[in-house]
Amino acid sequence: MSKKNDRAFANAKKFISGGVNSPVRAWHAVSGSPIFVQKAKGSKIYDLSGKEYIDYVLSWGPMILGHAHPKIISAIRQSATSGTSFGAPTEAETEMAQLICEAIPSIEQVRMTSSGTEAAMTAIRLARGFTGKKIIAKFSGCYHGHADSMLIKAGSGVTTLGIPGSPGIPEETAQLTLSLPYNDLESLQKAIEIHGAQLAAIIVEPVAGNMGVVPPRDGFLKTLRELTAKENIILIFDEVITGFRFTFGGVQNLLKIKPDLTCLGKIIGAGLPVGAIGGRKEIMRHLAPLGDVYQAGTLSGNPLAMNAGLTALKLLKEKKADFKAVDEKTEYLCSEIQNIFKEKGFCVCINRYHSMFTIFFQEGPVFDLATAQKSDTKMFARFFHGMLKQGVWLAPSQFEALFVSFAHTNKDISCTLDACKLALKNI
Ligand SMILES: *Cc1c(COP(=O)(O)O)cnc(C)c1O
Repeated sequence: MSKKNDRAFANAKKFISGGVNSPVRAWHAVSGSPIFVQKAKGSKIYDLSGKEYIDYVLSWGPMILGHAHPKIISAIRQSATSGTSFGAPTEAETEMAQLICEAIPSIEQVRMTSSGTEAAMTAIRLARGFTGKKIIAKFSGCYHGHADSMLIKAGSGVTTLGIPGSPGIPEETAQLTLSLPYNDLESLQKAIEIHGAQLAAIIVEPVAGNMGVVPPRDGFLKTLRELTAKENIILIFDEVITGFRFTFGGVQNLLKIKPDLTCLGKIIGAGLPVGAIGGRKEIMRHLAPLGDVYQAGTLSGNPLAMNAGLTALKLLKEKKADFKAVDEKTEYLCSEIQNIFKEKGFCVCINRYHSMFTIFFQEGPVFDLATAQKSDTKMFARFFHGMLKQGVWLAPSQFEALFVSFAHTNKDISCTLDACKLALKNI
């Protein structure tokens, strides 16, 4: 990396813990210094020396329309001139909520937050408040933000760094969270048999993205819906990644499954700090001020974030056909990458769900955290650096999703494939 970048990171480490404001950004899993970003536009991101990279991280999911989309930037600009925060309601919030309710049939009402973490935390609290039960269940390798009760066998940075839980979370809290293997109906049935009467909620990434991409097996979510409904357990779909990534709505629209509560974030904020929780009125009315389950936020429903998000959602609604185009681009990219690896005699397992994918450095299949962890992370790290050298920006961990945006061109895809060939030559 350039001297300028080294200096930037050294400076950051003086004043920011670890030099970064979110752990995976520090590149511990792939070693080396993280690249500081100067700017980004469309499918490209630029380092401090101006080198251009094709970006498959997209701010970890939000930038489905590409970076610095002119309509979104103009919405933010226009909104900012009228003031950046009021701590009082605005009509943009209603418009945003209405659009989300229209897009996702299981959502009758929403509450906006400033992050996905807050959305998941609120969903859990609401489920407990609504059912009067204490225990919650999640699936190993799924990530639902960094609230205490969700950091048990979590994905994302927690998997990357190999931390099973986290110091600072009292055992008593951890004991209230069951962790089940993803895609395993037998364990699920057993857990519900034993704990059903105490289970307030089961939270799931309907397509897991935080242990690398792991799609649900046929029947997994349908059975999960049936069992939770029978036992009066709130089913929470954490669609912070999947919301508006595959269609104008959640992945639940495609799967035709209605959870009780849904968490949103990332894409609905268009790159500004946003989260949302939504669901049936009957449950949502238990939130304060109507109900007694407390939830709040000084910057919740922030006008800049609402106007940016609204603009993004309206664009996605207009450009529904582009979802199919981006799927096809991703499918082509993945199948060609698979071929390149095969020709070079490397074995990889590519898990793809529409426009998100992970190249697992192993034979596969990968269907849960345990199988994901069989990957050769050292080989992944070499591939990561090889691609970076060729101008392709991948997530700095084996256990993350890669994303394709509407802004990625056919040329980006073919450049990425050329980069892949060169990267494998020197791996
Ligand atoms: C990113 C993510 C979160 C957390 O959102 P933040 O905005 O980072 O707090 C929660 N759930 C899932 C599935 C995520 O991918």
